[in-house]
Amino acid sequence: MESYPRYITQNFKPFDPLELAKRTENIVCKGGLKKYTKFYCTGVYRGISTGYTVGCCLRCIFCWVNWSRDFPEKEKDFYSPEQVFDRLVYNAKKKNVPRLRISGGEPTLGKEHLLKVLDLVNTTDYLFILETNGILFGDDKDYVSKLKKYKNVYIRLCLKAGTPKGFEKRTGAKSEFFELPYLGIKNLISANLKFHIACMNDPILMPQVEDKIMKRKLKKLGYFDYLEEEFCDPYFTSVARLEKAGFKIFHKRNRS
Ligand code: SF4
Repeated sequence: MESYPRYITQNFKPFDPLELAKRTENIVCKGGLKKYTKFYCTGVYRGISTGYTVGCCLRCIFCWVNWSRDFPEKEKDFYSPEQVFDRLVYNAKKKNVPRLRISGGEPTLGKEHLLKVLDLVNTTDYLFILETNGILFGDDKDYVSKLKKYKNVYIRLCLKAGTPKGFEKRTGAKSEFFELPYLGIKNLISANLKFHIACMNDPILMPQVEDKIMKRKLKKLGYFDYLEEEFCDPYFTSVARLEKAGFKIFHKRNRS
């Protein structure tokens, strides 16, 4: 078996993101429990109580998540859906914020765990913001249709690329899996779920021509709503991952 993909280096071998999702789930999920690193409230979304989960099925070169993304086996703390829910709500009450989310890694890894957390959130009036890279939603239509029963789930799907080449270069996943997040969008539209698209189209990472292709693809899919265009912030981990992948973009930005 291939070695477990960590951060991208200049001569990395692209991987199958669905296989990486399974391999990562084997590390971070155990009988309905899932690994998390911490729980606290942040100022994004005008205040949100967040649980930081471990592991992802992509290896974005600009990712800000701590090294638990690349070395999930080093994290030791598993939490049940009830423990996650209790911590999210406890922190939300303490800071008086009406929103909850799971971030840090890919929240959709560990379907059973996430759906149980959402079952518990569904008994409250909290809004749950489900952030995702869309890979599993593109592969598993049943996952998307299971979300229909949750009255207070809002999805934010973040695209990483507009072309297969850009996808492989910036996420490390094989270009043949490029369409999965777009299929995820198609599944969200047909399930009539509440969501918006974000995209990491910072011009320092995504060429303008690719940005145009991505926006054309979204229109073709029937998506005309708000597009949240992200800017690559120089977090320590983002800078380190970019440099390991051979990108010295912040040097360029600082000079311009
Ligand atoms: S940016 Fe998101 S999708 Fe990309 S590796 Fe980090 S956590 Fe995963």
